[in-house]
Amino acid sequence: PYVISEPCLDVLDKSCVEQCPVDCIYEGERMLYIHPEECIDCGACEGACPMEAIRHESAVPERWHDHIDAGRTFFETL
Ligand code: SF4
Repeated sequence: PYVISEPCLDVLDKSCVEQCPVDCIYEGERMLYIHPEECIDCGACEGACPMEAIRHESAVPERWHDHIDAGRTFFETL
């Protein structure tokens, strides 16, 4: 799946939300999260983010890897 990381924190621009064909981008308290099971890997959201916070999971920089887990935890606790 695609993952939203650090640059979204306290920004929540939400430009990505309307691009997603399967509505799998959800709003958390301080950032947005992509549902890892619902994401169909289309990539439509990536270019929409003004903060460049969205990348495919495999391309998330090491320093933001905790956001991959944070996303999964977010949906587990919904
Ligand atoms: Fe939605 Fe496609 Fe982005 Fe996944 S990659 S969150 S399906 S727009």
